[in-house]
Amino acid sequence: MSDLRDLYQEVILDHNRSPRNFGSLEDADGRAAGHNPLCGDRLAIAVKIVDGVVTDLRFDGSGCAISKASASLMTEAIKGKTVDEFHRLFERFHALVTDQSASADDATLGKLAVFAGVRDYPARVKCAILAWHTLRSAFNESHEVVSTE
Ligand code: ZN
Repeated sequence: MSDLRDLYQEVILDHNRSPRNFGSLEDADGRAAGHNPLCGDRLAIAVKIVDGVVTDLRFDGSGCAISKASASLMTEAIKGKTVDEFHRLFERFHALVTDQSASADDATLGKLAVFAGVRDYPARVKCAILAWHTLRSAFNESHEVVSTE
């Protein structure tokens, strides 16, 4: 189990060191900023949506390793997905980091499963979930009319 923990740690450190989809995005359809005052994490996320599909998204800001790695892994997971799929994954991720009984083997989570360990550190849950709340706000800000069909 400790080897697995080390592997998880490695993924988080890698995404903290070289975050994916980091930077600004021109002509974004939605933007939002998030702040976690408990830790000092600040994130801004911009998203491009075409016909309900996230075609591009970027994040910017500064924060602890958990918040940055979470934003990086989230952008990788959400790119190419629909807004509806985002909302479903949001629920799964939220359960993963807050619910002791949630399964980390859920295949839909993919690499996001590395954050399962966060549930043992309640103070870090807000770090892990910040990017997700921020992206959800960015979707709400977007002017794209999302079809339910
Ligand atoms: Zn943090």
